[in-house]
Amino acid sequence: MGPGENTLALLVNKAISIVLSISYATYGERLAQGTLGPLVADRPCPVRGCRSRLALTGKKAERGAVFPEGRSFHYDRIVVAVARCRASGGKRHWHRVLPAGLSHGKVFAVFCVEAVVSECVRKNRSLRGAVGVFDGEAPHYTTLHGWIGGLGRYALMRDAPEEGLPFGALLAQSRRQGLPEAEAIFRKPVRISPERYRSEARREVMAAAAGLLAAARAVAPRVPFPFAAWVSRAAGFDLVAPVRWWARTDGTRIRHRVGPPGTLHSRPKARSP
Ligand SMILES: [Zn+2]
Repeated sequence: MGPGENTLALLVNKAISIVLSISYATYGERLAQGTLGPLVADRPCPVRGCRSRLALTGKKAERGAVFPEGRSFHYDRIVVAVARCRASGGKRHWHRVLPAGLSHGKVFAVFCVEAVVSECVRKNRSLRGAVGVFDGEAPHYTTLHGWIGGLGRYALMRDAPEEGLPFGALLAQSRRQGLPEAEAIFRKPVRISPERYRSEARREVMAAAAGLLAAARAVAPRVPFPFAAWVSRAAGFDLVAPVRWWARTDGTRIRHRVGPPGTLHSRPKARSP
């Protein structure tokens, strides 16, 4: 007996998503043509301890996604393919298959995260000023606080999801794949304006987030979203784990209720009519 739709939704929500190295537009075409299968076939199952390989199923799942269009962020419900590993004994794992730019459990696409974080750590805007650059479904400024903390801590290798590719491994794999050297650029000191932080811990993660974006520009110069491009390239490295990071606050706290890691304030506010 196959799982019912609700059971499937539950299983797919729990399992880590597979991210492909193709754009949302290409993904949509291939989904419509039924030609996504070869991109998924025989990839290793990302569930820890599972040595099985994946295959695309005929099932689809729906999820929310926020994409940028210029300086405006738009929320969409999108349909994604579902893959399943071939492990036997009722232990099969179900995974959503995502286009480049989306990540497991996050509504905002990497492009959005990169664009807003960049306004703050590179262009020296305040949290409120940085989110104010964008309209539509722009994140709340406390969300941006978490994004910077999460990216910075990811770059400092202090905090990353278990099923993710650590930043050190991303650097090493990028080197092996012949991408431009990024580590030396990441290590260059970045000055963060003192009015942007109130603790050394916060300054450190902001500088690390800025260093990460600078390294990304070395890896993928002349594209609008170099970090998203880097993450997308990494999705094509044929590794088990995708690039993932938590969104967490650190150092100087902004007091507010937070959800579980990875979903911190990631739901955009409802569209106004
Ligand atoms: Zn599996």
